Amino acid sequence: MRSDPADYQFFAPRNLHAVIALLAGEPGQWQPLAGGTDVMVLYGAGHLPHKKFVNIWNLPELRAITESPSEIQIGAAATYTDIRNHPAIQQNFPMLVTAASWTGGIANQNRGTLGGNIANASPAADSPPALLAYDAGILLTSVRGDRRIPYQNFHLAYKKTALAPDELIRAIALPKKFAHHLHHARKVGARQAQAISKVSLAAAGQLSDGVIADLRLAVGSVAPIPLRLTKLESALLGKSAASFPPSDLRRLLAEEIAPIDDIRSTSAYRSTVAANLIAEFLERLASPRQTLRANLDSAPSASHANSNPANETATNVTTANATLQSWNALSPAAAAAAILPCCGSQAWAVAMAAARPLADVPALLESSRQIWNALPPTDWLEAFRGHPRIGESQAPSSATAKSHEWSSQEQCQVAKSPEEVKQSLAEGNRLYEQKFNRIFIVCATGKSPSEILQILRRRLQNEETVELPEAANQQQEITRLRLKKWLNVAE
Ligand SMILES: Cc1cc2nc3c(=O)[nH]c(=O)nc-3n(C[C@H](O)[C@H](O)[C@H](O)COP(=O)(O)OP(=O)(O)OC[C@H]3O[C@@H](n4cnc5c(N)ncnc54)[C@H](O)[C@@H]3O)c2cc1C
Repeated sequence: MRSDPADYQFFAPRNLHAVIALLAGEPGQWQPLAGGTDVMVLYGAGHLPHKKFVNIWNLPELRAITESPSEIQIGAAATYTDIRNHPAIQQNFPMLVTAASWTGGIANQNRGTLGGNIANASPAADSPPALLAYDAGILLTSVRGDRRIPYQNFHLAYKKTALAPDELIRAIALPKKFAHHLHHARKVGARQAQAISKVSLAAAGQLSDGVIADLRLAVGSVAPIPLRLTKLESALLGKSAASFPPSDLRRLLAEEIAPIDDIRSTSAYRSTVAANLIAEFLERLASPRQTLRANLDSAPSASHANSNPANETATNVTTANATLQSWNALSPAAAAAAILPCCGSQAWAVAMAAARPLADVPALLESSRQIWNALPPTDWLEAFRGHPRIGESQAPSSATAKSHEWSSQEQCQVAKSPEEVKQSLAEGNRLYEQKFNRIFIVCATGKSPSEILQILRRRLQNEETVELPEAANQQQEITRLRLKKWLNVAE
């Protein structure tokens, strides 16, 4: 530690009013301390320029996330974890959720705040491109009152912002107007996790009659401040996303960015990668299924699949399902965890997450089918173990709460069946487990208890070579129906 605590003053007022009164008393002297994840690094290194710190961590006035019909306001002291876990942010602003998932590790996400990321004003920070692309507004507060400015006007020069010395960022406002856009966030760093970006992109766009009707391109790490590429956006508006000349894209981009050589990368690399990321987004905007094809071809499990999604016709659609759109933007681990209850196999969930972005519901269902069919039986058996026995409500210990809830709905008819049918099912289950050494799997949705009993008795006659694929097919159907429930899509 190269700093001495005795050199610093730290004050922790109880409310926001007392904080801004302190800032106003000695403008520029007191610095807010939120999560401290930037401040404490400088403190440890002995590079902290200020000596007076005022605590804003956990102040209720700054931590709340509020929603109105037209916008979501995220308190400046809301953490990355708060953002990642907030359903309305997941649904409306998936690129911000993705950026939050990129930011450091879990400990950092529990502590680091959105306001701190913005105020710290690093051109390589992860959240600014998403905020720029979403037309964020910044609410600033001081004893003089509140003011709201477009986030686009907040960063003035390298590490210089529009924040007055007595002001605090109170909240970040995001207008809810992107439900029908394609959202596309990419970060290129030295490795997948816990790396400062070499280049990052947040892009959102919408087509109308085959041409670009709305477009937002925001980049990080390619200029002294995070940038919205307004000139390139204007040049692309009204054009076909598929046929914009790459040389024009590179030329227009070069006019707006000013990348540097530093320890993480070179200017030339950053220019090339930024152009590639935008080209990738435009390709996806023009034809999401082309991207689906590329993803499926490169996903390890999907490469063994039987049917070829390359046969699908390319169409100009965007990801309209809100749950799917948010899920496409999650980190791989979060995406696998979110989809796991639909099936129960970890390998399936991981491969589904790796197959993203999935353009629409049919693409997701097809991907699920292919991935499931390509799994080895050990993974099928893991999924089977997530179900209660037919006719029993007790959830196995491996089942998630969501999976248990769905199982109860799937078996609701059986639960109401007469006692003798329940007893026959229990006896059938016992014989099945004796013969096949696993529980009987049947898609119970829409089937009467006596139908299920008939199926059970028939399948008891099967050889293992016939029975295992039949059970796997039943699981696949259960998964298909659960995916539709999860996505809120009617059967
Ligand atoms: C291990 C590690 C990994 C990291 N990885 C990433 C990463 O991948 N991507 C990334 O973008 N960042 C990363 N960071 C940086 C950091 O976590 C973020 O910038 C974080 O959001 C800062 O928030 P904080 O609350 O911790 O800010 P603090 O450290 O408390 O404050 C940072 C600055 O902002 C000012 N400030 C804070 N809140 C306000 C406010 N409401 N109004 C006005 N000024 C304010 C403070 O005075 C200070 O100058 C990482 C940091 C660490 C330590």
